Amino acid sequence: MGSGSTPADSPQAITAEDWLQRLAELSRRQGLAIGAMLGAARRDLDLLLASAALHLPVDAGLSEREASERLREFLASTGAMLDTDHAELRRWLVDLGFVARSDRGSDYRRGVLPGWLQQAADQLDARQLSEVAAQARAAHDDDRQARKQAWLARAAQPTDARGDAPPQASTGADAMFMAQALDQAHNGWVVGEVPVGAVIVRDGQVLASGFNQPIASHDPTAHAEIQAMRAAATLLGNYRLPGCTLYVTLEPCAMCAGAIQQARIARLVYGARDPKTGACGSVVDLFAEAKLNHHTVVSGGVLADRCGNLLSEFFAERRALRRTGALPPDAEVGDEGED
Ligand SMILES: [Zn+2]
Repeated sequence: MGSGSTPADSPQAITAEDWLQRLAELSRRQGLAIGAMLGAARRDLDLLLASAALHLPVDAGLSEREASERLREFLASTGAMLDTDHAELRRWLVDLGFVARSDRGSDYRRGVLPGWLQQAADQLDARQLSEVAAQARAAHDDDRQARKQAWLARAAQPTDARGDAPPQASTGADAMFMAQALDQAHNGWVVGEVPVGAVIVRDGQVLASGFNQPIASHDPTAHAEIQAMRAAATLLGNYRLPGCTLYVTLEPCAMCAGAIQQARIARLVYGARDPKTGACGSVVDLFAEAKLNHHTVVSGGVLADRCGNLLSEFFAERRALRRTGALPPDAEVGDEGED
């Protein structure tokens, strides 16, 4: 690389090519929260914030309105994986130095980017970034369509936990929707949460989705099932969700089982069993209580291996990161499934 000296703790400089490649990978994600990326995902966060900063000029100041307009464009294209709005993004960019604001607060321009991004930034512009992101998203959508077709073609073999599988859902559809819940679980992993995901389906359509995010949201109730039910209830304008099926990658806990019954979810389909907190038979079976449960039919074991392996891999990675000291001391991790 170059001949300049680099401080020992600064990451190695990135090439423009690697920048675009990483951006393409991140463009397949969604719902990334800036606050949650500050710890373990800081390098990715810096790359995304620098991508946003490339939308602002280096040598001329923009008014707040103009700067907001540029950031809105970024969030609608290159930065669509970020879960934020232009005002919050602008605050982060200014706070972390990616965007410089004059003392009067009315003049925004590109700030000083981290050293490892600076050289590549000189070779890139906003249009290139949005093209790469759009291509990656299109390719991802094609992949998903292909996977969906494959799942539909090959019937999965869920084991029905209670032997009373309701007639309305085919096993192929169950596997397809569980795979979408797995996709949500991956989103949780990206932001450092225990990877559990959920989707809610009615009449063959996904109404809402969610992933586990108690750490980022400072909310002990922010389990995947609750996130998805909140979104579906808001969408339908109804606190009951009759006729809906909830798919979740991990057997629900007692809290979620209670909420599922309150919402009158018609059918619950889960992936892996949870021997530590599962409330569908592993620890307790709240759905077997006839006095509690009048509405919800339960099936378990759909894509159970994939759902369970995802959790095992996540905790193995966490243990490895802890051993090497790569996990910042403030990077919390939920204790679900951990010893
Ligand atoms: Zn739960």
